[in-house]
Amino acid sequence: MGVHGIHHVTAICGAAQENLDFYVGVLGLRLVKRSVNQDDPTTYHLFYADGQGTPGTALTFFPWPDLPPARAGTGRVMEVAFAVRPESLAYWQQRLARYGVTIEPATSPFGETVLRFQDPHGLRLVLVATEQERPWVPWDDSPVPPAHQLRGFHSVQLWERALAPTEQILTEVLGFRRLAQAGAWYRYAVDAGAPGQLVDVQVRSGAISGRDGRGGVHHVAWRTREVAESDRLRRALAEAGLRPTGLIDRFWFTSVYFREPGGVLFELATDGPGFSRDEDPTHLGEKLVLPPWLEAHRAAIEDALPPLRLPEPAAWP
Ligand code: ZN
Repeated sequence: MGVHGIHHVTAICGAAQENLDFYVGVLGLRLVKRSVNQDDPTTYHLFYADGQGTPGTALTFFPWPDLPPARAGTGRVMEVAFAVRPESLAYWQQRLARYGVTIEPATSPFGETVLRFQDPHGLRLVLVATEQERPWVPWDDSPVPPAHQLRGFHSVQLWERALAPTEQILTEVLGFRRLAQAGAWYRYAVDAGAPGQLVDVQVRSGAISGRDGRGGVHHVAWRTREVAESDRLRRALAEAGLRPTGLIDRFWFTSVYFREPGGVLFELATDGPGFSRDEDPTHLGEKLVLPPWLEAHRAAIEDALPPLRLPEPAAWP
């Protein structure tokens, strides 16, 4: 029993248009869903992914420009890593520099060559060079050539004050195994341990707790194959002393939320029905889509949202 890797990561950003320009125009991801926060429909929920919205490739955002910046600290996802081919790092170094992004080339604690940088609102991102393949689909209309496109998530990095309670939930309930340790860094894997099936924990015992805000990750969702699997995990989490929510219908998937013992907000999300449930796969993200229970309020919702213009690939060479 366990999860099968990262389903999506959700973060908080500033102005929606700046977020869209960066993730589509600069990073070349596809906007696969333009929707609203189902708990606050006056806010967009923007989903960026590979060419088809393959599970395990979606980074999603709530634009809340008025929120103060996130505070770095424990109990938070502090970095989001994408996989790229090793030969793509030079391309990305040039591309990011061209758009004025400050890049920090580095070696990860586990020996990978990486590029670290931040998005326009302070979210910490990493490109990890890896030969390891995972399922993903290039996007033909991306300003980034298919060979260099981001190939889904590599991993997320959590900061924790103590290792044991978090490790226990990861390994005894969620199905992870400890893969490596380097100093205060621990790497865990599920299933094949391919990109997208990894989580890194950095233990920072003296650090302050993090706080949600602009430029911070709100939660990470882990893949389950079906609702019954989420439900079994839900029960196991409750037996382990955590407090998972019930099963929540998010229309494109079914969700359960819980805080792991160190404070990071986790979600379990089913692979199906998926982002093409309500849109033709060739036209994903072009229009505002709402779950059926919000359709009756469409006019008021659209009035409250700022207009958004999809970047033209040719304008982002
Ligand atoms: Zn989520």
